[in-house]
Amino acid sequence: MRSTKAIIDLSALKNNFQKLKAMTAPSKVMAIVKANAYGHGFVEVAKALQNTQQGVEKFAVATIGEAIALRKAGIKAPILLLEGFFDGDELKAIQEYQFETVIHSIQQIEWLEHYAQKKSLFEPIQIWLKLDTRMFRLGFPPAQVGALVERIQAIKVVKTPVNLMSHFSSADSDREFSSEQLSIFENATQFYKTERSMANSAGIITQKNAHYDWVRPGLLLYGASPMANKAAQDFGLTPVMSLESQIMAVKPIKKGESVGYGRNWFAEDDTYIGLVAIGYGDGYPRHAKNGTPIWINGREVPLVGRVSMDMLAVDLGSDSKDKIGDRVVLWGKELPMGKVAPYMDTIPYTLCCGVTSRVQFEYVND
Ligand SMILES: *Cc1c(COP(=O)(O)O)cnc(C)c1O
Repeated sequence: MRSTKAIIDLSALKNNFQKLKAMTAPSKVMAIVKANAYGHGFVEVAKALQNTQQGVEKFAVATIGEAIALRKAGIKAPILLLEGFFDGDELKAIQEYQFETVIHSIQQIEWLEHYAQKKSLFEPIQIWLKLDTRMFRLGFPPAQVGALVERIQAIKVVKTPVNLMSHFSSADSDREFSSEQLSIFENATQFYKTERSMANSAGIITQKNAHYDWVRPGLLLYGASPMANKAAQDFGLTPVMSLESQIMAVKPIKKGESVGYGRNWFAEDDTYIGLVAIGYGDGYPRHAKNGTPIWINGREVPLVGRVSMDMLAVDLGSDSKDKIGDRVVLWGKELPMGKVAPYMDTIPYTLCCGVTSRVQFEYVND
């Protein structure tokens, strides 16, 4: 059988979670498991985190479908919808399942007001009001916070007080702008006796004053670094996903011959080419450049030629002893995503999110 697999190390995940708790205490940690837990399998990830020593205190997802799937899988912890509801019809499920929800637009407030008019018996809903601190993505201008809190807290299905949050645009790379965002948030929210949240993974590392009541790590939880110049290992975190395959063929090639579609790489010397059973059909990016490192038998060898749908080629070198069936690591503990991503003009986030369903997922927990 083709052995292309993603091995998900749940004990590494749990250790990362405990490390993040220790790094950010007394803040609480909301585990971000949107986008199928960044491609790791959100039900398995959430179950593992639910069963950690201290237990996770909250999960966050992007859509109500993800949240309902977690509840149906037996997840008991609070779940926050990071983008709130996409229409008023979702409010019924939000209330029934007791999800917490972000509100970032007037339209959402109107839906909520309309919904509340029809309700007599109710369990109140926890709202997180999202403020836009100059990222100009979702959220309200901070100057409106007072009026909005008042308006939302007047809605009878709303639990009081409303919590407050915002988001960094470049905590990985621009400390000055991040500090400015942080002071905008602090100035707008300092007098509210409620829970606040600002820091994503990069904010956790670079903006210690932004931890507030809840930190919101995604990428760090999965053992990858949001910073170009730092590895997750530098923070004591371990990669959770290992994307692996095997050598399916080895062949000698003469100096001057090319490899693969489009002939974009030529051998500079006689060498051995290894064909590896993974391609863009599995989520290995097609635009990975010649020279992208790939781990085989304790060393890194360069990707050569274009990535195909089902396979790719590496230069094993003229003295290669590599054989069919040898293990190949595309990224994982031996080769962090942060090291290969620049060769693909991307970031670790897209690599783990992009692994396709053709890849077999194996969960280990030791
Ligand atoms: C995805 C997301 C996060 C997590 O971001 P990372 O960089 O992966 O830590 C935090 N907050 C919000 C609002 C998000 O959408």
